[in-house]
Amino acid sequence: DDNLFLTEITRLLDLPQDIIDNKSSLPLIDIITGLAHNQFCAFYQPIYDLRQGKAVQIEALARWRHPTMGILGPNQFIGMLEHEGFISLLTHRIVQTGLDLLIRGPDTQDLRLSINLSRRLLDDREFLDWLVEQVESRGLAFDRIVLEITETMAFTNFGHTLATLLRLRMRGFELSLDDFGTGHTTLEHIKNLPLTELKFDRILIKDIHRDARSQSIIAGMANIARELGLRMVAEGIDNPQDLDFLCAHHPDIELQGFLLCKPVPAEELGRHLFPSCQSSRRA
Ligand code: C2E
Ligand code: MG
Ligand code: MG
Ligand code: MG
Repeated sequence: DDNLFLTEITRLLDLPQDIIDNKSSLPLIDIITGLAHNQFCAFYQPIYDLRQGKAVQIEALARWRHPTMGILGPNQFIGMLEHEGFISLLTHRIVQTGLDLLIRGPDTQDLRLSINLSRRLLDDREFLDWLVEQVESRGLAFDRIVLEITETMAFTNFGHTLATLLRLRMRGFELSLDDFGTGHTTLEHIKNLPLTELKFDRILIKDIHRDARSQSIIAGMANIARELGLRMVAEGIDNPQDLDFLCAHHPDIELQGFLLCKPVPAEELGRHLFPSCQSSRRA
């Protein structure tokens, strides 16, 4: 029975006993089975530069094609994978399919690919060496790969994180600070981390067209980012007013959000490399 199997796996893999007590609707056993049966994949969400009128980047977002529950998002499984150390299995798959997509083209040949990295992987030398090899063996330019780290991640064990990020940056990877505005980033971190991109969390973007405080924060932070030569991405664009506002005031901020395009399977990406929805203020 499932519980026995799980107990056995727990023992074999030397996992903490408490995982079998997990009463989540998606126990680890389902996830392991899903990984074994290749049920995990990535959807891709374009990030647009409206000055160029096209997508310049795609973000790989993990999805689980669950046999009975349909397509599940990361909030339903990433936490558990991360906790139990299976996140590298998933990320291997996401990296490989994402990199293959970049070279398969023709539509994706100019795009950068964003990969979300969990804290655990940033500390995993073996994984990072593997990642370098995957990019190299495909002959891809490292600066087409954007590694997204989150604000909270950047803090724990800062010295070690800094050393790792410097190494990745020197290799040529682009480095993005994701969900900026929700964590605890200090200017010291912004100053010292070798970032190439800031991603403003949707908490700062949502309703920016009528929220004076968001407007001020984005204006100030955007100036800092420009001074530092960082690219900027605004996530969570889900209404035309916010799109108009950002186009009018910050045309250099790249845009990602449901209004422009939801995350889609690779096969559908080709149709979405030009935004279906343009700002009305754009010439
Ligand atoms: P994230 O990296 O901040 O990704 C953006 C999330 O916002 C995605 O949710 C995306 O679908 C959603 N989003 C995009 N535009 C809009 C919008 O206009 N409105 C709203 N309400 N949401 C929007 P998703 O795919 O559910 O991913 C959630 C989080 O899971 C991601 O947040 C990321 O932190 C994590 N994640 C996703 N894939 C991976 C992965 O392969 N590895 C790791 N470690 N984490 C992942
Ligand atoms: Mg992200
Ligand atoms: Mg984000
Ligand atoms: Mg986010």
